[in-house]
Amino acid sequence: MQKELNKLKTLQEMDDRIFEKDDVLEALPEENETLLTENSELEEKLRELRDAITLKEEEKQKRVMLLQKGEEKLKTITGKQTAIKNKEEYQTLVREIDNIKRFNRELEEEIHEIEREIEIKKSELDLIEKDHKARIKENKTRIDANNEEVAELEASVGKMLDKRDGFSQSIRPAISRKYQRILENSANGKAIAVANDYVCGNCNMKLPPQLYNNILKADKIEMCPNCQCILLPPPEVKEEREAEVEEKKK
Ligand SMILES: [Zn+2]
Repeated sequence: MQKELNKLKTLQEMDDRIFEKDDVLEALPEENETLLTENSELEEKLRELRDAITLKEEEKQKRVMLLQKGEEKLKTITGKQTAIKNKEEYQTLVREIDNIKRFNRELEEEIHEIEREIEIKKSELDLIEKDHKARIKENKTRIDANNEEVAELEASVGKMLDKRDGFSQSIRPAISRKYQRILENSANGKAIAVANDYVCGNCNMKLPPQLYNNILKADKIEMCPNCQCILLPPPEVKEEREAEVEEKKK
């Protein structure tokens, strides 16, 4: 039975290594998800700023055109001064000229205000664009590396599973099935634990003395009454027993 227990120990070690890789395999796509979200947010921020600048430039352009029209109008109306016949006409013309001048002045102020806003947005863009672009590139490299690692891990886990299944064939079927059942019901992926000094190495429960003595004898499968792990004798006992067996052989 000691031999079967040793095989179970090896099987558990193989499963531990497979579980470790499975954990990484689960974590990598989650990390990629986070990186992709970050990249969309960074790209969105850059796009928003660029759009805002475009919008402001369009606003400015509209006013520049209005101002051009206003200046032409002013030129035309000033030219009419020579055709004035009386005081009334003169006053009307002066009022009109004043109105156009005021309108043009307001447009100029608006254009300057918009230009200031564009400058602020452009310097904000300058400030973050380089950083954002570098970060996006870095994240993309990381995502590619993660995808590569996933492919490698999948291949390697596939090989490990084949090897593990091959090895489990060498264990007595009833014992191998029992191990498998415990493993599938286990919360932490453990089906095997070493019992040491009356304590289960998996859940730390104190074991009844009779059970512990049976474990030390290692002539049948004993399980922890609490976590259901198959219990192995502590290594030193095993070595002593192996030495005894060696002694008997001589
Ligand atoms: Zn236990």
